[in-house]
Amino acid sequence: MAVADLPPLREALDAYGLGAKKSFGQHFLLDLNVTRKIARLAGVGEDSTVIEVGPGPGGLTRALLEAGARVIAVEKDARFLPLLEELADAAPGQLTLIQADALVVDEAALLAEHAGGAPASIVANLPYNVGTPLLIKWLLGDWRPTTMTLMFQKEVARRLVAAAGADDYGRLSVITQAVCDARIVMDLPARAFTPPPKVESAVAHLTPLPDRPDAAVLAALERVTAAAFGQRRKMLRSSLKVVGGEALCEAAGIDPSQRAETVPMEGFLGLARAYIALA
Ligand code: SAM
Repeated sequence: MAVADLPPLREALDAYGLGAKKSFGQHFLLDLNVTRKIARLAGVGEDSTVIEVGPGPGGLTRALLEAGARVIAVEKDARFLPLLEELADAAPGQLTLIQADALVVDEAALLAEHAGGAPASIVANLPYNVGTPLLIKWLLGDWRPTTMTLMFQKEVARRLVAAAGADDYGRLSVITQAVCDARIVMDLPARAFTPPPKVESAVAHLTPLPDRPDAAVLAALERVTAAAFGQRRKMLRSSLKVVGGEALCEAAGIDPSQRAETVPMEGFLGLARAYIALA
């Protein structure tokens, strides 16, 4: 049976007696028009290798397979494996299923074992409870995805793209924008999911920047932004005291009477470089 001929997702869930578990952040996309749109926005095609985190009942997986991608799907909840095996049978050679926690999975090793070490994108409707730590892993870890197309709760997606001065601007905005071009490409209401979550959602598309800061600068950036946004209403001369305070601001050419929320990403990169130079 081909992927397009498989029974509707809702029927597949019923056939296997599967319900959503809150502890796994399960909110399913059962409308294939929506999942196909996400696959299109991800730019996935025949030559693509994709790591999908949390396939669940496989709605997004179906769309990725239909687009011709080679998919490595990492699912923590073992209950979905029998249903997903049917999907693997319908797309011979395209889908590898891994039962694991995506937070601790070694993506480079997975790709070496199952895709000849090919570069890969990440496409996922992320579980909200671990969306941010997963993103940080992919932004700052040793293995780099080609692109990331990720569903978050809208508030988190907004933080990724927020500019200095905006309400949503914070540490996650600075770290994301230091290494990626980030855009929101789709908004989704709660009712698009089964069961509906309490919040709205949005898909962010992230493309790594060609010249990213080196690991030492990124480590310093984490340090400086933790201090600055840990006390975001205070002036930098005070919030940055633990990392050099006024002298650090002076070395980076940043006004120490500013507050973290008004300093653009480039300003934080300057502070991170100054932190290394003064250490
Ligand atoms: N992709 C499916 C969809 O769009 O209908 C399901 C999305 S649901 C929001 C999140 C999925 O991630 C669930 O299938 C859940 O079991 C899985 N999950 C939760 N935590 C995980 C983890 N740490 N590692 C891998 N999968 C996880």
